[in-house]
Amino acid sequence: MSRKKWTTEEDDFLRKNFVLSNGSLAKNLKVDRRAIRRRYAALNIDRPFGRDSLEIARFSIIREKCKDLVPEKWFQYPALRREALKNEVVYYWTGEDCKKCRKPTIRYSASGKCKVCQDSQNKERNQRPEVKESNRLYAKKIRKEKPELLKKQRLQRYANDDKRQLLLNSAREWRRRNPEYFKNHNRNYAIKNPLDRKLIKDNRRARKINANVILNEEEKKRIKKLIKDMKTINKKEGRIAAHIDHLLPLSKGGLHEPSNLQVISTKANLFWKDKIKCCPYPKPKKWNEPKCEIFF
Ligand SMILES: [Zn+2]
Repeated sequence: MSRKKWTTEEDDFLRKNFVLSNGSLAKNLKVDRRAIRRRYAALNIDRPFGRDSLEIARFSIIREKCKDLVPEKWFQYPALRREALKNEVVYYWTGEDCKKCRKPTIRYSASGKCKVCQDSQNKERNQRPEVKESNRLYAKKIRKEKPELLKKQRLQRYANDDKRQLLLNSAREWRRRNPEYFKNHNRNYAIKNPLDRKLIKDNRRARKINANVILNEEEKKRIKKLIKDMKTINKKEGRIAAHIDHLLPLSKGGLHEPSNLQVISTKANLFWKDKIKCCPYPKPKKWNEPKCEIFF
């Protein structure tokens, strides 16, 4: 076998494309791989060893060229799909343009497909009614099975302040556009959760005169218990026999919080109204024999 004679052009090609794999170089120059390897040794060129390091070297050159043209975040993604799968990164970025849409793009490590192409394909697919239905069922199932995941997602979504404001605004906009739905939803919620309804209503009343505090879950639970007690008494009596009363009336500087709330009889509440309770009810004939019958 006669040795191949290398032209300077071929040598230049080898020097320029030292990051290509032996296979593709051999294909380009129409020689076998061993000849390529031997020629590189003869030219005294240090090449990265192994398939992975060759590819990484090749991609890093392409990626460097893309600087300022692509989002900076892309440089954090691994260049190889194998690497991305190993580290459980969702995307990888080789730096090469997509052959289909001819745009610089990152790729999904799960499918190896271009993000732009895959996303548009998914969007199209999700418009189909049968897919829509199955997606809806799947979401419902996940919501039921993994409520903590949903909670986590929601927290993540609302963690960023700017994003939170955007979401709140869009929700407000949506409510403005669908007043009927909103009304029905509120009504149904109130019927299903009478305790919540009363809690929200009272809190709103207090907020109007700046007598509210921001309640935590524990405090809400305590207020709801009071409301429940009141409702049980009313149900037992068959009439409105009990009220929830502020120990120090809101108009006298009391706050709407569990420590300032009590369940008392309607009669007693109407007797005191918004007066400060300085005497027991019913008012005793003699002041020094107090008689307190506010409970049942
Ligand atoms: Zn594409």
